[in-house]
Amino acid sequence: MTTDYLIVGLGIAGLHFCEQLEAHKKRFIAIDNDGVAATKVSGGVYNPVVLKRFTAAWNASKHIDAAVGRYSELEKKLETSLLRSVPVYRIFKSIEEQNDWMVASDKQELSRFLASEVVPNTFRNVKAPFGFGKVLGSGKIDPSKLLAAYKRYLTQKKALRTETFQYELLQTQDGSFQYKDIKAHRIIFSEGAAAHLNPYFPKQYLIPNKGEYLIVHAPQLDLDVILKGPMFVIPLGNNNYKVGATYSRDDLSTHPTQEAKEEIVAKLQAMIDCDFTVVEQIAGVRPTTPDRKPLLGSLAATPGMYFFNGLGTRGIMNAPTLAEQLYRHIEHNETLSEEIDIRRFY
Ligand SMILES: Cc1cc2nc3c(=O)[nH]c(=O)nc-3n(C[C@H](O)[C@H](O)[C@H](O)COP(=O)(O)OP(=O)(O)OC[C@H]3O[C@@H](n4cnc5c(N)ncnc54)[C@H](O)[C@@H]3O)c2cc1C
Repeated sequence: MTTDYLIVGLGIAGLHFCEQLEAHKKRFIAIDNDGVAATKVSGGVYNPVVLKRFTAAWNASKHIDAAVGRYSELEKKLETSLLRSVPVYRIFKSIEEQNDWMVASDKQELSRFLASEVVPNTFRNVKAPFGFGKVLGSGKIDPSKLLAAYKRYLTQKKALRTETFQYELLQTQDGSFQYKDIKAHRIIFSEGAAAHLNPYFPKQYLIPNKGEYLIVHAPQLDLDVILKGPMFVIPLGNNNYKVGATYSRDDLSTHPTQEAKEEIVAKLQAMIDCDFTVVEQIAGVRPTTPDRKPLLGSLAATPGMYFFNGLGTRGIMNAPTLAEQLYRHIEHNETLSEEIDIRRFY
């Protein structure tokens, strides 16, 4: 079978690249092993603000506008609801933080994202004596629902194989690639943190970072916004909340740990004043990089082989724009900016 593109790894990176290929009527086959994708466990939050420092996230306006548009299109295409616009309420720790927020909300790049007044705390069971800063333009998608729906869609199109890609079986021939019965003109590797197993990928450019969430049931919490204090508290409906996430560079397994559970419980108790029970614990590994920018493009060694990785902590928001940039780079020879080009580390 001959195809234009072979995509290895169908997390949020692979998915948005497939969307580009569909939009431009290219043929493709995606291979994914249905492993613990970071995308599947992620909070699915798109948030244009760095909530520690009250600054705009990298290229926030561009990324967020494209992301909201793409996820809305995906909702229609997959006939499922995925996207919800919901504000993030950042708990202020002090009067000084309130003042810093006000100053930030006056800045040009932030004025559309930061409400300029302090929101008083009217939640019965949230501890926030200094109130909240309200982020505008934020929201969430349901990432595991999206992946499941997209995989069903590709399966119907006969464009998905559920298996582990075996790198040793890949052959390059006359500028194209042969993998088992598939002949592809180009190959895109988008395996997230699992790329460290890829012999073609420069492993030193990835710094995998494990994150864990608890799903808790808290009938008296009654939150309809995303709360941000020492942890994110993300409403899931039915009085369930996703709480996290932790950060660890030491243990890179995808197993939940007791240590993370204790950390999340203690931090949640510092934020809320009501009972909760832990329903589930999940873990995944973020593909972060030394300079917190993605890794896109090719290395000189193998023409036709491309990487789409390094989405770090903001893959949900950034992947749609980056997929488009990578597509234009490959198909129209547009230069990738140095800050995202994988060759910048050479
Ligand atoms: C706990 C946690 C919370 C997060 N919360 C958020 C958030 O709220 N908002 C946000 O924007 N980002 C969040 N992130 C980050 C976000 O999840 C990542 O940036 C993004 O999901 C990375 O996507 P990816 O497609 O590169 O990798 P992945 O999602 O990991 O996908 C890679 C896919 O490739 C498959 N694969 C790997 N190797 C092979 C192989 N050899 N053969 C076949 N298939 C293979 C894997 O099984 C997987 O399906 C969070 C991450 C974590 C861990």
